[in-house]
Amino acid sequence: MPELAYVNGKISSIEMAMVPVEDRGYQFGDAVYEVIVSYSGRLFALEEHLERLEGSMCELDFPPISRETVRHSIQDLFKQADLPRAALYLQISRGVGPRNHAFPETRKLQVVMTVRKVDEKPAMLRREGTAAITLKDFRWGRCDIKTVQLLANVLAKQKATESGVDDAIFVAEDEVVREATSSNVFIVADGVVITHPLTQNILPGITRAVVIDLCKDVNLALEERFYYLKDLYSADEVFMTGTITEVLPLVKIDGQIIGDGKVGPVSKQLYGALHEKINNS
Ligand code: PMP
Repeated sequence: MPELAYVNGKISSIEMAMVPVEDRGYQFGDAVYEVIVSYSGRLFALEEHLERLEGSMCELDFPPISRETVRHSIQDLFKQADLPRAALYLQISRGVGPRNHAFPETRKLQVVMTVRKVDEKPAMLRREGTAAITLKDFRWGRCDIKTVQLLANVLAKQKATESGVDDAIFVAEDEVVREATSSNVFIVADGVVITHPLTQNILPGITRAVVIDLCKDVNLALEERFYYLKDLYSADEVFMTGTITEVLPLVKIDGQIIGDGKVGPVSKQLYGALHEKINNS
């Protein structure tokens, strides 16, 4: 079944889809985005993604857009692609106009989507866990807004790749652990699941919120609080969460073995609970 693109209502193959050279997303990173996946032909957590999208647009003073219209466009493209396990990328830019930092007069948003098959994480990574490095967080101060300005994340992921590991975790000046390049990070210490609180320094991950709820459902103690690099190294378990990442255990960070170096029981339990929730949604 086809992988498709959408540009302001026009659906085509991805190769044929074009955006104007003066799109503000392209020139200034003046655009927001979401990635939504489907399981067995059903989009997961669509309303939560739409809610966060509206939040990002509101924070950046974008003109409002009807949720109904966006939802309908997403569902229509997804239906036409007919891919049971799809990743739908949606990007909305502030529009097109002669290059000028200040907002354009025309308040016409530019809406672009692609829908492709999910690039699944290898089963071995899920079974055996994976590795990461840490890096100083050199991103801007509004990481809570889901903008396409991802250059720091791109450079960090590339550094991880060149270091032979799967991902990089951003750590603040004071050694507070923030998040990975496209996932939130959790640790498990003495039976307590801990993750960074919602501030302007991390993305409010949809999967993060689902996993927090799942902890409550399965009676795992959960704390949203700052934790430090030393806590990351000494944790019993570390895992990342994200739409594509799901729940992915980290068993080695900066060359140091986490816990006993194997995927831990809490990570396994939460991965299972997440899939149960997906199957029942
Ligand atoms: N943090 C960052 C920086 C991300 O890019 C992502 C993925 N969008 C996440 C966390 C995880 O968010 P979600 O669970 O909504 O995919």
